[in-house]
Amino acid sequence: MLQKTLREEIIFSGIGIHTGLWSRIVLHPEPAGTGIRFLRKGTYIDAHVDNVVSTNHATDLAKEGVRVKTVEHILAVLHLLGVDNLTVELVEGVEIPIMDGGGGVFYDTLKEAVEDLGTEAEVFKIPASLRVEEGSSFIWAEPSDRLEIEYMGTFKNFLGERHFRFTGEPEEIVYARTFCYYDEIPLIKGAGLGKGGNLDNTLVLLDKGVLNEGGMFYEDEPVRHKVLDIMGDLYLLGKPIVGKIISRRGGHYLNVKLIKMLKELATEGKLSHSLV
Ligand code: ZN
Repeated sequence: MLQKTLREEIIFSGIGIHTGLWSRIVLHPEPAGTGIRFLRKGTYIDAHVDNVVSTNHATDLAKEGVRVKTVEHILAVLHLLGVDNLTVELVEGVEIPIMDGGGGVFYDTLKEAVEDLGTEAEVFKIPASLRVEEGSSFIWAEPSDRLEIEYMGTFKNFLGERHFRFTGEPEEIVYARTFCYYDEIPLIKGAGLGKGGNLDNTLVLLDKGVLNEGGMFYEDEPVRHKVLDIMGDLYLLGKPIVGKIISRRGGHYLNVKLIKMLKELATEGKLSHSLV
């Protein structure tokens, strides 16, 4: 597999789901070896786990006091497309625009613009089995010769227990929107988040059904969105990942905890105490 960038500059604009503020991003093609990075106020921020500063309802990066919020959906699409060299410049706003609430708008636009570079891509192969956990949630990772992601979710409404297995086809997850429970909305707003959330970008779950007209895009849309988030967060390893991931009720916090442990394995070349 060759390294990839985009054929031309591409611009997206829209509101940020948490800030509610208007954002405009310009995606600049880059040569092989650049990696994925964000640019805001003259500061380059590598899409790397070392730059994660928050995992509260989204994954935020910062460097030298310059922050970029909610990076996970665009990173998921870049990961799915194998685009590994790009600068995502925020020319307006602090947050990646939420667009359709998933990766659909990014994916439909970018898939036509991917360009191979003449250099072999590097991938991150999960070297050994490991597990991270928080309360009753956990993520298990193990070596495999291809990328596989499974998510087991417990929903407190009509969805109940859901088990979804992602086999690598972007359309399985890319249109799955971010979601919340209807009765959680005051809590999210009270925390100063979700200011840009609306029924065009967020699936609102009720006890029976959803608030959105037109219902769900997939019959298990929320669990697929969790896999989209994993794809985005995992790209903070700096390379496409090859291996098997099984998450039970994991979120951004556990995804990042897993990446930190994988990175530790890769950089130190030794087995950490958390290995099993
Ligand atoms: Zn998400």
